[in-house]
Amino acid sequence: MISLKLFFDFISSINTFSANRGASISSPRERMNRQTFELLILGSSSATPTSERNPSAQLLNIAERFFLIDCGEATQIQLRRFKARFQSIDHIFISHLHGDHFFGLPGLLGSMHLLGRKQAINIYAPKELKEIMDVVHKNSETRLNYPINWVFTDKGFNLLFEDAKLEVFSFPLKHRIFCTGFLFREKPLPRKIDKYILEKLDISFADILSLKAGQDVVNKNGELIKNKEATLDPPAPRSYAYCSDTIFDPSIVDYVKSADVLYHESTFLEDQVERAKKTFHTTAAQAARIAKEAGVGQLLMGHFSTRYPDLEGFLEEAKPIFANCLLATDGKKIKI
Ligand SMILES: [Zn+2]
Repeated sequence: MISLKLFFDFISSINTFSANRGASISSPRERMNRQTFELLILGSSSATPTSERNPSAQLLNIAERFFLIDCGEATQIQLRRFKARFQSIDHIFISHLHGDHFFGLPGLLGSMHLLGRKQAINIYAPKELKEIMDVVHKNSETRLNYPINWVFTDKGFNLLFEDAKLEVFSFPLKHRIFCTGFLFREKPLPRKIDKYILEKLDISFADILSLKAGQDVVNKNGELIKNKEATLDPPAPRSYAYCSDTIFDPSIVDYVKSADVLYHESTFLEDQVERAKKTFHTTAAQAARIAKEAGVGQLLMGHFSTRYPDLEGFLEEAKPIFANCLLATDGKKIKI
């Protein structure tokens, strides 16, 4: 028995193909038919905030599911300021336990409680964060209206979350304390059926599903239909890699290879390269070398030291090494 969902997925895949016949994979029409994959920068400062830059936090929207990545102080104010959907966040990823990456969490969880949240929230973080939050809630006699599902990050490359369309991994970063990056990656889409060829083939509905899964089929007349003759490649899966605080570390390249967008901390300029090494941070030029080596589509730089009121120097130092780079300043939206 074929489910209704499979049937509608099938119809929609044919319609999508018909609309795009002859269009290249990256055409605006093709993009329009793809699920949302958009990043909002909520904070871009390192250590302490400035009047224009908040500590680290980003909101990733994938198909109207909202993933918060790090939660520096005042993240909830930034969510309000940039009109993000506060209660739609169901997943929070914390890279490490330096305050500028999680001090916003008690306030955010408290506001979600006061605003009547009932659905569970999933937090992916070093295990000590649960101890910290337990102490906060115990001593303030707070009982949240909703459960927290904790998933603890660990060494190595680990799958933290997956559903039908997406998977999220953590990977190790070298910082003064335990720290991980996160990789968000779409799952491969099924192959697209060529409606015009399909009309000429005498095949069953089950055969169509086999074609979408990449298999060859034999039609009712006993003829072999090669998959490549009846289907087209789907759009390539997209990915976003988040490299939180880290010393310059070429071993990161393996984890972020070919990501469409790489966020890499760029705390300092070359004038502070020794300081960067001593404090386990990275310069703009070093971040650009990682982006180049990994062959990513675009580099986003952030976590800027407050010693730099003007950020143009970050672009000046990174661009000669990796041209397609952007500053991840507060409020910026990036389509992936
Ligand atoms: Zn740190």
